[in-house]
Amino acid sequence: MAGIYIHIPFCRQACHYCDFHFSTSNDRTTQMVDAIVSEIDLQIAYLNDETVETIYFGGGTPSLLSKTDLKRIIAKIRSSYSLSESPEITLEANPDDLTEDYLGELVHTDVNRLSIGIQSFNDKVLKWMNRAHDGQQALNSISMARDFGFDNFSLDLIFGVPYSSYNLNSDLKTAIDHSPPHISTYNLTIEPKTVFGKQHDLGQLIEVPEETAAEQYEYLMASLIDKGYSHYEISNFAIPGKESHHNRNYWRQEPYLGIGPSAHSFDGHSRQYNVANNQKYLKALSENIVPLEIEVLNTSQKINEAIMMGLRTSQGLDVQALKDDLEWDLLAKNAGYLKQLMDGEFAYIKKNKLILNTKGKLVADRIASDLFVAYD
Ligand code: SF4
Repeated sequence: MAGIYIHIPFCRQACHYCDFHFSTSNDRTTQMVDAIVSEIDLQIAYLNDETVETIYFGGGTPSLLSKTDLKRIIAKIRSSYSLSESPEITLEANPDDLTEDYLGELVHTDVNRLSIGIQSFNDKVLKWMNRAHDGQQALNSISMARDFGFDNFSLDLIFGVPYSSYNLNSDLKTAIDHSPPHISTYNLTIEPKTVFGKQHDLGQLIEVPEETAAEQYEYLMASLIDKGYSHYEISNFAIPGKESHHNRNYWRQEPYLGIGPSAHSFDGHSRQYNVANNQKYLKALSENIVPLEIEVLNTSQKINEAIMMGLRTSQGLDVQALKDDLEWDLLAKNAGYLKQLMDGEFAYIKKNKLILNTKGKLVADRIASDLFVAYD
């Protein structure tokens, strides 16, 4: 099974923390959709006739696309690839876009899942982060999505916010009160070249201490698990059966094709990186060229990716598969370190899977990098 990711590189305004690829000059949307449709044609062989199970519109802000644009892209994928009977088709949407008019259009497309970028319900925090919506719009977007039949949706929430008005308990309670089937949580990180990054360099913004962010993450985990959510991936919680199929395929290292500027693709052996520049992307596609770089993964990289992805999931890292497929005996190579992890209750092994427990999830990246293999 495979997935297709479409990157829509436009936003209404730049959020102060965001380092994704996007432009706030939105006047070239039609040209971009033309280029994306051309790229779908040019990349037709990439997935090797695998059945496409998921389509994910990410960004940027894909909810800036009209019904016509979305239908055009989906129709092109349908005519170019073999799609499963009922593919999951997700649209990332900002609350300010989910108006009655827009949702009324969206129901006439094949989009069947929304990922709503709520981040917070607090007006002051939203304004401070330069989000385009306010708390009321966040609330309205959830109820309206439901009114229009989008019962399968996810909410994004940010924690670790270094701003006095921020209150995780309140945001989380509001989110839970609306019973979303899926919640994604992100620790706010200060990235260079963002407004927050510049404020940080000038000493005007100080990150939340690591321990505070860890306490908030622990609180999130405990609260959501208590309400019946399964913590199926480090950042993701779902009512059982409502996990994101698209993201699950990433973590299982299934092949996926990324279309659009800055999109990545993976076929099990190599990664492709499309150019992260709208002008260069449009120019190349006008000449029927996909502007990309290919990185063929060596065995060490494959092992490290398997470690990183496996440890993020509640299923854990399949140490037997690592041994069978990549000839890497993780248990034997790291016996001492793994004993420390288990003695310290950071992880456990069950049916050949190395699984992080709550304490381990707080330092998952660190554990993964400790287990990494040095590159060939
Ligand atoms: S967080 Fe989303 S809406 Fe904000 S700038 Fe980044 S991609 Fe755009």
